[in-house]
Amino acid sequence: MALTPIFWANALKKHGSRGLLLALVLAFVVSIIFYTIYYYVVPGFFELSIVVEVVDVVVDCSDNFATRFLLNEVTQELKTPLVSGAAIRMEGQVTVYDPRQSGSACYRCLYQDNGELQQTCSEIGVLSPLLGIIGSVQAVETIKLIAGIGKTLAGRLLILDALSMTWQEIKLRQDPHCPICNKATQ
Ligand SMILES: [Zn+2]
Repeated sequence: MALTPIFWANALKKHGSRGLLLALVLAFVVSIIFYTIYYYVVPGFFELSIVVEVVDVVVDCSDNFATRFLLNEVTQELKTPLVSGAAIRMEGQVTVYDPRQSGSACYRCLYQDNGELQQTCSEIGVLSPLLGIIGSVQAVETIKLIAGIGKTLAGRLLILDALSMTWQEIKLRQDPHCPICNKATQ
């Protein structure tokens, strides 16, 4: 929110140059936080576990299957909610995988980890405002999870078709043969 044009305009209008300077400092601090989070996301179960162990919620904004599968595995192991969002071309989807809820599906229940080449938005392209829509829904779900309020998207997948600007909701079911969230049946 601190980086929106409205925020900058209000800071300048209400508090003059001092307000704008304060806003710049705030944006700098926010940037440090984001960069710190980015820096610590390293490709390995153990390393990622160390980071995930001390957080309440994980938000997946990655664009490749390898990272998504790893995040899913770690969050399922540590029983940490995972807010997952994706967008490509003119479509987006968002959901919450919450391993604290028994019988709840995980990312691996939906997608097979067979090493196939995936299409990423950096290669195929994505309508950039779509990322803002999906990211905003992820932010709302994250706040709800942290605050413990409302009904999250756990067990429900929202799919956005930007061409017709319609949302579709699909109920997610746990795969009884999933090797990640249903280990007991393996
Ligand atoms: Zn699963």
